[in-house]
Amino acid sequence: MGELDLETLAIRAGIERSQHGENSEALFLTSSFVFNGATQAAARFASQEPGNIYARFTNPTVTMFQERLAAMEGAERCVATASGMAAIHCCIMGLLSAGDHLITSRSLFGVTVQLCCNILSRFGIETSFVSGTDPEEWRAALRPNTRLFFVETPSNPLMEICDIETLAGIAHEAGVWLAVDNCFCSPALQRPLALGADIVIHSATKYLDGQGRMLGGAVLGSDEIMEKVFLFARTTGPTMSAFNAWVFLKGLETLKIRMDAHSVSALSLAHWLEAQPQVTRVYYPGLPSHPQHQLAMRQQSTGGGVVSFDVKGGRKVAWRVIDATRMISVTANLGDVKSTITHPASTTHGRISPEQRAAAGIGEGLLRVAVGLEAIEDIQVDLARGLKDN
Ligand SMILES: *Cc1c(COP(=O)(O)O)cnc(C)c1O
Repeated sequence: MGELDLETLAIRAGIERSQHGENSEALFLTSSFVFNGATQAAARFASQEPGNIYARFTNPTVTMFQERLAAMEGAERCVATASGMAAIHCCIMGLLSAGDHLITSRSLFGVTVQLCCNILSRFGIETSFVSGTDPEEWRAALRPNTRLFFVETPSNPLMEICDIETLAGIAHEAGVWLAVDNCFCSPALQRPLALGADIVIHSATKYLDGQGRMLGGAVLGSDEIMEKVFLFARTTGPTMSAFNAWVFLKGLETLKIRMDAHSVSALSLAHWLEAQPQVTRVYYPGLPSHPQHQLAMRQQSTGGGVVSFDVKGGRKVAWRVIDATRMISVTANLGDVKSTITHPASTTHGRISPEQRAAAGIGEGLLRVAVGLEAIEDIQVDLARGLKDN
């Protein structure tokens, strides 16, 4: 379905109807699949005949989700996982071995930093952290055993933009894969594979679901790369459940209109925040004041739904803004129709060391708002309450 627009793929790609001819995608709640006899069972297990065997390997509802998302990202294949972290873990463990080295940006989802520093390190995979905004640092950090570049763009929570095309060039010159965590944009706003990346990662928990209901993740790329990721996932077991895949299929159908609406509101909120005297800095790629605004507008179609900002007065004032809200959800999740607010230094990035936080530029006065689909005026009123009296 390659020639169709993303909006159409989001609704039509990947559908496989059962004998009942249902219009809405069916939910197959079955852990295993039956064979018509011993010969077919043997042929399925030997991969001589295509077909489902067991839901840790494949399930028709999960397959529909994988094919739909793959069509939207322009990928040959997708492996769906139980969470975004499972996707990142399956990607790295499927592709790298003890003795390998990976390079990633300093401004990164906090748990990804923990995965690299606390877990991968125990299995002999070394990580170097470099600036997400200076491609030359990536070139300088290359070693003979470097296998993977891992970037998040825009990054969480500082909205740094990594130049996917330039990093892909440096990676490929050195025979290294480039993986992009596309969680903040989703394929509705940014398609990293078209810019040269080899792998796209998603936390489906965020915008792909879009209504804060469940965890999920995905890894996408070529058949060759995904076969390694798939073998790791089906062997170790963090695969997506059929029910979650069914909800994500429904989420994808409205992804584009949600992302457009989130982006319009986030841009409006970013402009409003820039005008507040208590706000010292606003981080939003859609703002002309963002240091990489031009790159962001080349690489993604809008600024997305997340706005971060620094307030005068550090943690005390940041917490006051949070505690003064009456509507916005105080929670670490993002990508929901409900607006959410987080203090990264004490929550999502609370477990990384103060040095790593400082190096990543995450200050005590930093707040992150994932702008939902409530009326923008109501979101502003809710934030204004804690911002005044400074
Ligand atoms: C939330 C998030 C993850 C992890 O996803 P889970 O579904 O919570 O495991 C990874 N990367 C980014 C950018 C995220 O925001």
